[in-house]
Amino acid sequence: MEKFTGKAAYQGIAIGKIAEMAKADGAIEKVQVADVAAEIERLHAAKEQAMGELKALYEKALVDVGEAHADIFEVHQMMLDDDDYNESIEEIIKEQQVNAEYAVKTTGDNFAAMFASMEDEYMRGRAADVKDISSRLVTDLMGGGAGGNNFTEPVILVADDLAPSETVQLDKAMVLAFVTREGSTNSHTAILARTMNIPALVQVKVPKDVNGKMAIVDGKAGAVLIDPDEDTLAKYKKLQAEEIEKRKLLDAMKGLETVTKSGKHVHLYCNIGGVGDIGYVLENDGEGVGLFRSEFLYLQNDDYPTEEQQFQAYKQVAEILAGKQLIIRTLDIGADKQIDYFNLEKEENPALGFRAIRICLTREEIFMTQLKALLRASAYGNVAIMFPMIISKWEVERSLKLLEAAKADLRAHDVPFNENISVGIMIETPAAVFMADELAELVDFFSIGTNDLTQYTCAIDRQNQHLEKFFDAHHPAVLKAIQMTIDAGHRHNTWVGICGELGADPELTEVFVNMGIDELSMSPTSILRTRKIIRDMD
Ligand code: PEP
Ligand code: MG
Repeated sequence: MEKFTGKAAYQGIAIGKIAEMAKADGAIEKVQVADVAAEIERLHAAKEQAMGELKALYEKALVDVGEAHADIFEVHQMMLDDDDYNESIEEIIKEQQVNAEYAVKTTGDNFAAMFASMEDEYMRGRAADVKDISSRLVTDLMGGGAGGNNFTEPVILVADDLAPSETVQLDKAMVLAFVTREGSTNSHTAILARTMNIPALVQVKVPKDVNGKMAIVDGKAGAVLIDPDEDTLAKYKKLQAEEIEKRKLLDAMKGLETVTKSGKHVHLYCNIGGVGDIGYVLENDGEGVGLFRSEFLYLQNDDYPTEEQQFQAYKQVAEILAGKQLIIRTLDIGADKQIDYFNLEKEENPALGFRAIRICLTREEIFMTQLKALLRASAYGNVAIMFPMIISKWEVERSLKLLEAAKADLRAHDVPFNENISVGIMIETPAAVFMADELAELVDFFSIGTNDLTQYTCAIDRQNQHLEKFFDAHHPAVLKAIQMTIDAGHRHNTWVGICGELGADPELTEVFVNMGIDELSMSPTSILRTRKIIRDMD
């Protein structure tokens, strides 16, 4: 058994097989392996799996398109069983002591080049086939299914790092845990793990040759145990069962009010990234959605989502929430959330650069499309709109003006929407904190984004793992900024919530309630625990 430690981004225990994240560009890394025999065994297992897939494809094609077309899958089976092809792969693994994926890819490329240079036209045509079977084999080695990262069983996903755009593409039901070699605990991938209630570790220097190995992720200790022995496995299975029991105890909090013993009510809302997360909200008895990160809709797309596409997504969430509050934040891309089709220039300081409202107020046609979709959805539920990354009054005034223009347009076309839709802003820059009195006069609510507020107040890049020593999630300056924002909001009848990760910090729940917070919005999995803390308060 080998143990590697890093930082826990989200607690919990996961037990299962490791799958190294396949790269989006299909690149295969060459990795040295210590155990050549195990690597060959892994190759044989993948080959058997690929053979089974080809047999099934043959049978299906026979029914669907007839024998003449189904034949190709028999040819593929023969090629996969070809002695020269297999010997070449095994030889590369043994001689170079490398991973099977690399050996298969190299052999596939070599054989394809050889076929392509042949005189005979039929043989030249086999180049594509050998590439095809090689990529099938590589995919099976990397976790199975077509295209990589489509796993046939739930896995512990290991990657150097995970961009939010990669994380959102994954089939969440197939991921037991995330383990990244880089990354920070405050990244959007860590946030996603919390939403999904799966353990997540960052900065764990897991070796590269772990694909397919059995492992335990201990989210509390921030450790990964690879090839655990029977005793360790039994111990963790017991711990896992206890954890499930503990969560069940929290179920008693479902359906209860979030109120202190002396009668102070706090709204407990959830943070979501898309329609797919709404199940977690219902499951954990969230009282609404305090932050719908609408940019995830853009991240999942290859092109700008149309007004209709956005409308359908927002409407669906609004309808499922059936009258509960749904606060949708307008597009917040830039910095770590990059989208190719926006064609944004590379920046020296992306976190201080062209992002969020700055993009929306520069490319107003994109903003208008979203505002109209949001307004249309407001006819189907309790929708509110929230603008991110505000630093100045004029940004809010301009955004409200565009919102009025969108309303006028819909009115002119007799499209229904809520005329009195609530509008709020994120308070996530020190400038917004200092301007909170003036800003409060313009909007219905504030939602404090502590992730960015901490980053900008302390001048600590939330993505930079080397700064964690200086990072203090409970920095007094941030807590002071929160109190200032609450007080300013209340002076102007503007309610104030927190939707950054700090809102779910159990050590601070009482502090926030005593500060006068009106709402806390968090990963759905934190709702019941927070409700319990609040109900236990005097
Ligand atoms: C925040 O900054 O605290 C926030 C909630 O927004 P995001 O994490 O999406 O930047
Ligand atoms: Mg933010």
